[in-house]
Amino acid sequence: FDAVSRTFHSLRLSVPLPARDRPLSFTSYAISLLPSPLPPLPAVVDAATGDAISFPDLLSQIHSLAAALRTEAGLSKGHVAFILCPARLDVPPLYLALLSLGAVVSAANPASTAAELARLVGLSKPRIAFATSETAANLPGDVPTILLDSPRFRSFLAGGGREVLPEEEVGQMDVAVIQYSSGTTGMVKAAALSHLNFIAMVAGFHASRKLPAERRWREPPDVTVVGAPLFHSMGFFFLLKGIALGETTVVMGGGGGVREMLRVAEKYRATALTASPPVVVAMARWEEKIDLAVLEYVTCGGAPLHEAAARQFVSRFPGVELRQGYGSTEGGGIARMIDREECLHLRSVGRLTQNVEAKIVDSVTGETLSISQTGELWIRGPSIMIGYVGDEKANASTFAPGGWLKTGDLCYFNQDGFLFIVDRLKEMIKYKAYQVPPAELEHLLLSLPGVADAAVVPCPHEEAGQIPMAFIVRQPGNDLKESEIMDFIAKQVAPYKKIRKVVFTSSIPKTASGKILRRQLRNHAIYSSISR
Ligand code: AMP
Repeated sequence: FDAVSRTFHSLRLSVPLPARDRPLSFTSYAISLLPSPLPPLPAVVDAATGDAISFPDLLSQIHSLAAALRTEAGLSKGHVAFILCPARLDVPPLYLALLSLGAVVSAANPASTAAELARLVGLSKPRIAFATSETAANLPGDVPTILLDSPRFRSFLAGGGREVLPEEEVGQMDVAVIQYSSGTTGMVKAAALSHLNFIAMVAGFHASRKLPAERRWREPPDVTVVGAPLFHSMGFFFLLKGIALGETTVVMGGGGGVREMLRVAEKYRATALTASPPVVVAMARWEEKIDLAVLEYVTCGGAPLHEAAARQFVSRFPGVELRQGYGSTEGGGIARMIDREECLHLRSVGRLTQNVEAKIVDSVTGETLSISQTGELWIRGPSIMIGYVGDEKANASTFAPGGWLKTGDLCYFNQDGFLFIVDRLKEMIKYKAYQVPPAELEHLLLSLPGVADAAVVPCPHEEAGQIPMAFIVRQPGNDLKESEIMDFIAKQVAPYKKIRKVVFTSSIPKTASGKILRRQLRNHAIYSSISR
């Protein structure tokens, strides 16, 4: 912490990045990191089919596809490609071929409705879409679409005899990726990320990796099962990172939940697992026999992981490092843990990643705060987005002078540089103008025996403005009562933080990445307050 500029700097050695003015696509950068000879391992495995692609085949598919997309589909630098498909083996070559051309990769959730897709397409204005026979139906009709399961696309991948035109220069600051996010407020927006953003993030992982000096693969080889979907910032990044680092990345095309993920980890002898908090929670409670003997660490991020669950995980899998990480679509990888010592800090999300600076800012007074003080986290560094496409208003409220990105997360750093997320500012409940952080109450509720899952949202209230309302999933066979829950909380919090309403439900709605769908619960809360 620099007391003069009131800025937190990463404690990790800063990583040298390629000179900014040097043209370099993410694909060229990733290929340049690969060891020579190429690792004799599968680059990507699709757990749903068991099919795999080797590194040499992956590189040759990238080159063939890039040539075909230029000559036959007319794609070039700056064109946006909208991608709508589950994780498949042809997704990695597609992402990397597009990036090598300077075209923009924009992947969306295949479970989106037609109306949602129309909104996304309206934001990113794609020149072309890639989908499968199943997912294409919901796409707006006016976007030319190539089906990944068509003979045409198969022939693109296979290559063969196409003239390879000289590549257009791709600058590191050119837009590489558009991801969809609502950011700190409002509707979904199109966040534009640069090649540099991904180069910087991968460079950080590359630097902190323990590798033999001659840059060969390790024994046992790194095998990462990526449970997060490939359209989400987390899954997207871990796929690119795995390829660039010469690891085997296992993608979960078929979904299948935690049981399937663990089966896959066991089958492919995973050394690492990338998961959202619900997966870690389920693993912590896993009672069946499972052989994860070579599993070294689980990376958990995307949403808060409660300390009780982290503790339970550690006692269930004592040999496995629980590496928490924190990032966002807009900010990239912000903090993470990289070794066993850091993993002991179960409530923290790790230390600032290389090359990232941070400030903690009081969102009311605007004052920059110090160690141990809680405020909104602002970050600056090479991984933060270029900005929202065509939304100057959102950009103006998201960026602060000096190039700082406001995360909308309420955080503090401790003496040792560990970052703690206290709550998401934008979710704050106001009870008679007092701030009530839902995450704090959820944390307590999850420690109550009989509670399987919980979420707290504001419920409109005549007198107080809002009251905290809890949605509770009971453990099977448990008949915990509303009053027991309220009393349990009331004993542990200031009066204004008391839970004043409880609804029992069968599950808490969550996004693919494990974040509670608070808006959905809030609507429920509004409805229940009117219908009383
Ligand atoms: P997304 O853009 O979908 O990745 O969401 C980013 C937001 O998710 C962050 O701003 C945080 O509010 C939340 N988030 C991500 N990782 C964590 C974490 N490890 N702990 C708590 N919240 C997290």
